[in-house]
Amino acid sequence: MQLLSKEDFHAVVGTCRDCGAEVAHYVCNDGLIAARPAAAEWDWWLACTNEACAHHQGEGVFQDYPAWLVPAPRDASPTI
Ligand SMILES: [Zn+2]
Repeated sequence: MQLLSKEDFHAVVGTCRDCGAEVAHYVCNDGLIAARPAAAEWDWWLACTNEACAHHQGEGVFQDYPAWLVPAPRDASPTI
């Protein structure tokens, strides 16, 4: 499950190394901060879409992706 409605959701950037589910990349807007208060400190947030996964809480990102993300192939990556 994604944390935000489709309009606010940014992109799928890869899969979770722990569970294989899609990992979503979010803009840290008011909707995301309501769901994940720690996102107030960040511009971008990554979270596993599997609610049962430890990475569903997610984490803020600046330049480096977390180790639990398996990035999507380059030709499938979103344009930001
Ligand atoms: Zn996961």
